[in-house]
Amino acid sequence: MLKENAAQVEKRVAAACEKAGRSRGEVCLIAVSKTKPVSDIEEVLETGILDFGENKPQEMKEKHDVLPDNIRWHMIGHLQTNKVKYVVGRAVMIHSVDSLKLAQAIEKEAEKKGLDVDVLLEVNVGGEESKSGVRPEDAASLAEAVSVLPRLHIRGLMTVPPVCEDPEEARPYFRKLRQLSVDIGAKNIDNVSMNVLSMGMTADFETAIEEGATHVRVGTAIFGERDYNKQL
Ligand SMILES: *Cc1c(COP(=O)(O)O)cnc(C)c1O
Repeated sequence: MLKENAAQVEKRVAAACEKAGRSRGEVCLIAVSKTKPVSDIEEVLETGILDFGENKPQEMKEKHDVLPDNIRWHMIGHLQTNKVKYVVGRAVMIHSVDSLKLAQAIEKEAEKKGLDVDVLLEVNVGGEESKSGVRPEDAASLAEAVSVLPRLHIRGLMTVPPVCEDPEEARPYFRKLRQLSVDIGAKNIDNVSMNVLSMGMTADFETAIEEGATHVRVGTAIFGERDYNKQL
């Protein structure tokens, strides 16, 4: 079941790349496994997917520590400074940096462990009160402030747009994130690159690929609906 879902999503990613005139290799498919058991991840691993996304630091730690080492874990959820220790050294990329305070906490942990950490700035493109993420107008100054931290390397931007009924409604938000990444990239800030655009989920990943996504984060279409009441 999950293998078929994953194969189906892979087909759709490939078709979206083709439609957008992009090569399949430009887009990384991250299977978002939050709330799902290790056995589900093992099943999806058999399809060759090696990038998995989690939004809870402890859950990522537990899964990381029992699953194969070649998995690339992506931290995609809101991160509190006191949880940074679970993530640094386990995640290949932290997609959700949205404050200098958080960046400094990651830097401190990276220094302690002697590691470098790739991060994305999470941008609240829809300006929603309920969402985390830096405001678009503050993203460039946050990038400048974070750039001086020697162990942290900003690789690009991430966003979760407002919930839309139709993927077309998400397109302007994806365009906005892409434009923002072009604008910040043009500033040529030392230690900041803008090669990664993490955007697009189950409802809208094809639109995101058309708008330049390099990383799509797909949960439900691969793992099925999530049950937040069920204990893992
Ligand atoms: C849960 C989650 C996803 C995956 O959402 P689906 O709609 O299930 O594909 C992607 N990104 C973030 C940040 C998430 O929290």
